[in-house]
Amino acid sequence: MPAPTLCRPGCAACCIAPSISSPIPGMPQGKPAGVPCVQLDADGRCRLFGHPSRPAVCSGLQPAAEMCGSSRAHAMQWLARLEIATAPAGGSAGQPAAAATGSARG
Ligand code: SF4
Ligand code: SF4
Repeated sequence: MPAPTLCRPGCAACCIAPSISSPIPGMPQGKPAGVPCVQLDADGRCRLFGHPSRPAVCSGLQPAAEMCGSSRAHAMQWLARLEIATAPAGGSAGQPAAAATGSARG
């Protein structure tokens, strides 16, 4: 059994690349894809960690080797592809969100 993947300090790809449709303090309409969450601090940490106002989708998204890879660039690309694949309509060759790793963050 592989060792659990840990969140890479300072990565924050999860808090930038995906869209989030739930309200976030400071972003009442949620967050568009590719936009850093306003709750990210300068070190790439969530200011709401452990706080009840942190969106449930954020707590539900766990690090995974496939998503996190070995670099922030990998994670940004992986999450951007997932965002396109799970867009509600339109996408040219989109597939359902089955690839999501435990959380559809939007
Ligand atoms: S992609 Fe992985 S390493 Fe990067 S912020 Fe998300 S969980 Fe952490
Ligand atoms: S609320 Fe926290 S975990 Fe969720 S996207 Fe914003 S910074 Fe990231």
